[in-house]
Amino acid sequence: MTDPATNASFAEIAGALEGAQSILVASHLRPDGDALGSTTAFALWLRSQGRDVTAWNENGMPEKFGFLPENGLVGLPEAGRKFDALVALDTSVKNRLGTVLKAIEAPAIFINIDHHVSNERYGTLNYVDPASPATGQIVFEFLRDRGAEITPEIAGNLFAAISTDTGSFQYTNTTARTFEVAAELVKAGVNVGELSCAIYDTQPRRRFELLKLAVNSARFLCGGQVACFSLKRADVERLGLTPEDSEGVIDHLRAVDSVVAAVFFEEMEDGKTRVSARSKDLRVDICKVCQLFGGGGHPLAAGARMAGPIEVAEEKFLKAVCDEVGKCD
Ligand code: AMP
Ligand code: MN
Ligand code: MN
Repeated sequence: MTDPATNASFAEIAGALEGAQSILVASHLRPDGDALGSTTAFALWLRSQGRDVTAWNENGMPEKFGFLPENGLVGLPEAGRKFDALVALDTSVKNRLGTVLKAIEAPAIFINIDHHVSNERYGTLNYVDPASPATGQIVFEFLRDRGAEITPEIAGNLFAAISTDTGSFQYTNTTARTFEVAAELVKAGVNVGELSCAIYDTQPRRRFELLKLAVNSARFLCGGQVACFSLKRADVERLGLTPEDSEGVIDHLRAVDSVVAAVFFEEMEDGKTRVSARSKDLRVDICKVCQLFGGGGHPLAAGARMAGPIEVAEEKFLKAVCDEVGKCD
């Protein structure tokens, strides 16, 4: 094992994978475009190298991401399978891989490639770059370094990964390099209009109903600097919502001019509360607030899972956010 505090080189990672016959590629539960796009792209590359590759996600491939090229590659975890190596992508803490972990107890080769500043460097080889806006961008750099062919399928997955994690190339994490990478992906065959329409303009009607609910019940605190919205179990059931439907709803709260921090609370089936939080001001490190409650993420986008009931979780979290926002006044 190399020093977990030091990033392994891409050559070391590729070398370690050469020594593994069966390889599992996985990413965090409740996956987003970056998790699934990176997983599929990496799995496609391994397959092109003649490797025995399996791609799993705790939630499989959600219907919403059915447009990703070769999306059938990502399946649900199966019990009892064993692998020589595990590649975790876009996953800051090991347990966010979910039951995938059961497939490999203490894997000899455990590669952790991620861009979360809060990454716990749990791999035997870690490559964590918080300056990268998406794990998909790191995967691109890895493939380029290895001289891999960026096929149209790999390009589509990486473009979707980067586009979704940068808020369609709008967030502060977007750099000149991100546009260079995006240009390379377009040259490799991405149809920007078609892919963006599939990502952003093809929402199920129930998501619009959720948005109506959010707009109607949003609350503003701390002189309008903090906005929040809570989703109760009863509404999830009434509207027939799936986990990915709520993704991005928080952006509408964040978009209000007075808002510095936006928080979305969701009552989960297990009674816990899922917290999704965003900041618009680098002085308000929302990851730090989430870490107070066992969560993590990025300075401007982070999350946590808190003990219920939801009203108690809301009160504790909002107090911590208002304290953090108050420090900037
Ligand atoms: P979300 O609000 O679910 O879109 O997540 C925003 C960011 O926070 C993502 O980068 C997640 O990986 C991270 N995140 C969300 N929930 C958690 C959690 N319970 N623990 C650690 N990181 C989280
Ligand atoms: Mn992610
Ligand atoms: Mn990501």
